[in-house]
Amino acid sequence: MAQIALNHVSKTFNNGSIVAVNDLSLEIEDEEFLVLVGPSGCGKSTTLRMIAGLEDPTDGDISIGTTRVNGLEPRERDIAMVFQNYALYPHMNVRENIGFGLRLSTDLSDADIEERVEDVADLLEIGELLEKKPKSLSGGQQQRVALGRAIVRDPEAFLFDEPLSNLDAKLRKQMRTEISRIQEQLGVTSIYVTHDQEEAMTMGDRIAVMNDGALQQIGEPNDVYNHPTNLFVAGFIGSPSMNTVEAEVVRRDGRTLLESVTGDAFTYDLDATADANADHPVEAGDRVTVGVRPEDVVLRAEAAAFEGQHHTTTVDVVEPLGSDNLLYFNVGSRTWTARVSPGFEPESGTSVHFGFPREALYIFDEEGTTVESRNLADPAEARQVTHGDGDGVVNT
Ligand code: ATP
Repeated sequence: MAQIALNHVSKTFNNGSIVAVNDLSLEIEDEEFLVLVGPSGCGKSTTLRMIAGLEDPTDGDISIGTTRVNGLEPRERDIAMVFQNYALYPHMNVRENIGFGLRLSTDLSDADIEERVEDVADLLEIGELLEKKPKSLSGGQQQRVALGRAIVRDPEAFLFDEPLSNLDAKLRKQMRTEISRIQEQLGVTSIYVTHDQEEAMTMGDRIAVMNDGALQQIGEPNDVYNHPTNLFVAGFIGSPSMNTVEAEVVRRDGRTLLESVTGDAFTYDLDATADANADHPVEAGDRVTVGVRPEDVVLRAEAAAFEGQHHTTTVDVVEPLGSDNLLYFNVGSRTWTARVSPGFEPESGTSVHFGFPREALYIFDEEGTTVESRNLADPAEARQVTHGDGDGVVNT
């Protein structure tokens, strides 16, 4: 197994007019599962293809283990790739599909190949499919065979490029768990590319968030979620996305206020909290973006139900999800979302009240860099304490 390192790697196309990857430095530890995540076009596939040897970097060095691999052919790199497109050979059965690469690239005996194919089929729980042809398999089974083909080669590293995007939502979730389990069991260093932040959050030991060819942040999923380095990461990681509103920092009557600049619907008094008059991360005159995660917004039908400061708004839409409801409401010219209890389902157009604890607040400066992240020791508990929910029900 191996560590993989990218050192100031860039890739441009069309004589430099397209910058696909911009000065990317990353270290993936031995046996680590790293997820590269970002919106379409951010450069994640190009990064993976450079590690695989399918593209040459324009600048920078790539190493696998102790070997600098720039210029080496893909087959000289001892990595196995799994793509979205399974590309199984239709005329071969599952046994032949899994063993084919081994027959080509090694001088193992037939018996040794058979043994390895059967071990891998057991690991993937597809032992009973070995004699079947790909066309008689479901999408999920085909994806397992594609995985088997990668695993059987016992490579230094696995590179996954959106391998689950052809599967339906339920199967995708199942395969996510499966891939994580197998990766952990085999301890093979893995890089997994996806545009799906939920996939990234649930699968990665660490996630690397990219935008516009550049690395935005790398860290453990919960850390990235709780402490995003900038507004882009804050908005990209988390579903529904973080609520934001642009505001100006104002000093009035000896208090520091965050006042929305896109309408008069939002004023947040930074001093009207338990840590009143504490040092603020912002100063009067600063233009900032204020953020609150949907699960930290507290909504009440009655203003009197609030202990802390709150604001009045109008319900736009309620989306029932079964386990909870998503409630959309207006803040200035923005639509905010709150994750509320399933019993709270006010009619569209109803007037309601919203608030959130000071500890739930994110503040970003004018460049979008985080100047304050939420600071909830135990998010659910903190919400209940701040808003006096003795019955333990949040947001009703
Ligand atoms: P997606 O999730 O849509 O695959 P991605 O994050 O993987 O997106 P890349 O495929 O790495 O993004 O592409 C990054 C940028 O480089 C895009 O603007 C893309 O159009 C451009 N690009 C990628 N390959 C080439 C190429 N061979 N020639 C020209 N431009 C390219």
